[in-house]
Amino acid sequence: MEKPVLSPDRTTLPLRRDGHAGRHHFPSSFWNMPARLLFFYFFIAFTWILGSDILANKLIAYYGPGLGWLHTAKGIGFVLVTGLALFGLTRYLVNQAWRAHLHLHDSELAFRSAFTDNPTAMWVYDPGVGRMLEANQAACQHYGYSLHEFLALTPHRLSRGMAQRFQNGLQHHHHRQGALMIMELTVYAMRYQETQAQLVLARDMTDKIQAERALAQSEARFTELVSKVPEGFWVFDLEQGSYQYISPAFERMLEINLHQLKQDASLPLCRIHPEDLPEVEQALAEPPTTATELEYRWFTKAGELRWLQHRAYPVFERDALVRVVGVLSDITHEKQQQQRLFELANFDRLTGLANRINCHSYLASACAGEGPFYLLLLGLDRFKQINDNLGHDTGDELLRAVARRLEALRDGQGLLARLSGDEFALLIPHRDQGADIRDWAYQLSRDLALPFALSHHTLFITASLGIARFPEDGRDPDTLLRHGDHALAQAKRQGRNSVCFYQHPPQSPFPIGKVSLENALRLAWENKEFELHYQPKMSIDTGRLVGFEALLRWQLRGTGPVSPTVFIPILEDTGMIIPVGYWLIEQACTDLRQLAGLGVDKPVAVNIAARQLTQDDFAEQVLARLQQYRLPPQRLALELTESSLMQEPTRAAGILRRLRRAQMSIAIDDFGTGYSSLSYLKRFPVDTLKIDRSFIIEMEQDTDDRSIVDAIIRMAHGLSMTVVAEGVETPEQAALLRQLRCDQIQGYWYARPMPMAQLTSWLAKQRQ
Ligand code: C2E
Ligand code: CA
Ligand code: CA
Repeated sequence: MEKPVLSPDRTTLPLRRDGHAGRHHFPSSFWNMPARLLFFYFFIAFTWILGSDILANKLIAYYGPGLGWLHTAKGIGFVLVTGLALFGLTRYLVNQAWRAHLHLHDSELAFRSAFTDNPTAMWVYDPGVGRMLEANQAACQHYGYSLHEFLALTPHRLSRGMAQRFQNGLQHHHHRQGALMIMELTVYAMRYQETQAQLVLARDMTDKIQAERALAQSEARFTELVSKVPEGFWVFDLEQGSYQYISPAFERMLEINLHQLKQDASLPLCRIHPEDLPEVEQALAEPPTTATELEYRWFTKAGELRWLQHRAYPVFERDALVRVVGVLSDITHEKQQQQRLFELANFDRLTGLANRINCHSYLASACAGEGPFYLLLLGLDRFKQINDNLGHDTGDELLRAVARRLEALRDGQGLLARLSGDEFALLIPHRDQGADIRDWAYQLSRDLALPFALSHHTLFITASLGIARFPEDGRDPDTLLRHGDHALAQAKRQGRNSVCFYQHPPQSPFPIGKVSLENALRLAWENKEFELHYQPKMSIDTGRLVGFEALLRWQLRGTGPVSPTVFIPILEDTGMIIPVGYWLIEQACTDLRQLAGLGVDKPVAVNIAARQLTQDDFAEQVLARLQQYRLPPQRLALELTESSLMQEPTRAAGILRRLRRAQMSIAIDDFGTGYSSLSYLKRFPVDTLKIDRSFIIEMEQDTDDRSIVDAIIRMAHGLSMTVVAEGVETPEQAALLRQLRCDQIQGYWYARPMPMAQLTSWLAKQRQ
């Protein structure tokens, strides 16, 4: 507002309500004029007096003293002339003065009204005596006082702590009722009624300042919020086609500033994951008319992958879309959590493979397709014993290693899952012929048989595989899994390390059920129907006979021979193996005596089942029988599988130690199919190691198998053990085993298992 131009020497404002002017200052010219008039008057008067006297005297001198009245007339004339002049002058001056007075009065009224009626609060204050001199209506109204009360106020009453005089600037004043007002004062110095006074103009700034403060506060709150909240905010102006605002978190997240964004709003797009980019571009093509949400992956400048969520909200003004505002959030953590939950729900924690649930849903979607495909269920043989004897850590480590190997063998096709403890599932797309998948499965089991070098153990393990085919063996996941399980159980029954297809209905390997088989076995035992066959063993170096293995044989009447892998487990389960086992040793002793009679003094190895080792006096019983048949203990050898040793390792070690002390030879049977930890086997007094047939079969073609055999032989020799290769069927296998420095071989190539009668003739033939 333009300040009124007032200066102390000109502010002779007639501010009194009675309209009387204050002290008058006359201009000096005003004083000059009467002086000039006086001089003029004196001049005229003196001139008149002197002039008229000279003229009158001359006339009287000429005309005589009769003209003496001339002096009187001259005097009267002078008075008349000057009187009239004075009258005219006075009249003129009074008129002038009256006009000036009227003019002054008008302007006084105008000024007074400008003061009293001014909407701006104003007052005049005398700082000398600390007294209010004048106040206008606006001031009285604003502060809530009557004029009388206002004039009695002191500056201190208006504002606590205020000095004796008013000053320019903002001040806190109080309304009569106590409310605080923020007043902006403009103070002018002025003379008023002979004193040096202050004219104060007061404008109420309370609302404005409060609004400003509220704005500043809300701005501060917004800034605080924006700086504290991890979400980024942005405002995009559609008219300008550029970002108007981005918050610090937005800048941090996208590693970009407003200036850069204003120059090129599409700049952030180049760091979006290529897979997510099309969706983002599509969303950005048109401004959103409703709230929208987008999630995409984002590469930071350092190359780290983050998940971002972008929420946009349109802003309309008078029905026109003017802006888009939005929130940007880094949802990487949530995504990771989600992923973790997904993994927990769908993946096996130990191996990281798909779990049963995941496998089931994968199967379900595979079943919805055309197929065909194979479901392979793979069970690790004797895994429980590894867990029991080497501890769960080793068991877990082995499972992880198996998972890794299977994953590599799967070679990216189908699905690999871990269903339970030692059971894995493989879903393999169709191969042209059934034979193919069988080959593939065999290859898989051979690959699995390669040693696993774990942190504390090197383990050999085998697996049994059951295969169910889609759609022949089932059209839904449950049926396929059930039939796969049947096939797996069948494979395990077949002596482990084998592959079985599911068969409709599952074909029992025996024509009679288990219970009747058990009965048949009891009958056979009572009727002494068991027989022993002997399979010779040969030294690779000399090509000569070095011993025999006694193998139990049983013919089921009307059916034919039953495999010992079928009936021996039943003998074990029923405990019949104990009497049968002693009978078998006695039979072997009898046959040994017969062989001795023929001049053959090679040892006979008998197979010992786990159950037999549960007998504390087993060693004594065996030794007693040898004594009974007058045979030195070296003539009898024992073959035990790792699993039978592991069932009760301490007791087994004790029994074996006693037998070994008596010089009896003890062999580990089927080495490579159990858990095959040589370091663990050192605990047992074992002197011979028999490599399982499964390694020998493929040894020629399969370099892996060959290297396993090589490794086993080296390790066994390192432990001073004799190595026997089982199931040698070809001269090539024998030659290879010789190269690998195997000690002995046993198998169809050298001789098949045969009954005693046949053996004697075989021996006779050998001697020729
Ligand atoms: P094992 O102890 O590994 O016996 C060797 C098996 O391999 C025998 O099978 C034998 O006939 C077979 N075999 C030997 N050479 C060859 C070959 O060149 N090719 C092929 N394909 N096979 C060959 P068998 O007689 O069927 O015995 C199977 C298993 O039954 C034995 O495996 C053994 O674990 C168990 N068993 C046999 N007799 C007894 C016994 O008297 N007591 C106990 N506890 N178990 C026995
Ligand atoms: Ca054996
Ligand atoms: Ca064997």
